[in-house]
Amino acid sequence: MVSLIMNKNNTNLEYARNYYSKNKEIIKKQVSDRIKKNRVKILEFYTHGTFKCSCCDVVGIEFLCIDHVNNDGNKQRKELRNLHSFYRWILKNNYPDSLQVLCHNCNMAKQIYGTCPHKKLSTV
Ligand SMILES: [Zn+2]
Ligand SMILES: [Zn+2]
Repeated sequence: MVSLIMNKNNTNLEYARNYYSKNKEIIKKQVSDRIKKNRVKILEFYTHGTFKCSCCDVVGIEFLCIDHVNNDGNKQRKELRNLHSFYRWILKNNYPDSLQVLCHNCNMAKQIYGTCPHKKLSTV
C-alpha cells in the first residue's frame, strides 16, 4: 500500500515536471517570437524601412542593433534588465529620439572609441 502511494506520487511528480518543462519551452518560444517581432518593428521605424545601419551601408536585421545616441545605455540597461522590457519600453515611449540603429561593428566601435571610424572618415 505504501509503495503504491509512493508510486502514485512519483508519477504525479514526473507528470508535473514534464508538463512544466513542455510549457516552459512553449512560453520561451512565445516570448522570443514577440521579441523578434518587436525588434523588426523597431528597426523598421528607426531605419525608415531600409533596415540599414545609420552610419555605414550594412543592411540586414541580423547585423543591426539599437544604439543609445549619447552612449548612456548602461544606466538604462540596468533598469531594463532584458531585451524584452527594453523593446517594450521603446514602444511605450513611442520610439525615443535618444536611440538610433547601428550595425554591430559601428556600435562596438562607438562604444569603445567614442565615435565610429566611419564618422571620422566622412568628416576629414
Ligand atoms: Zn554600420
Ligand atoms: Zn560606422
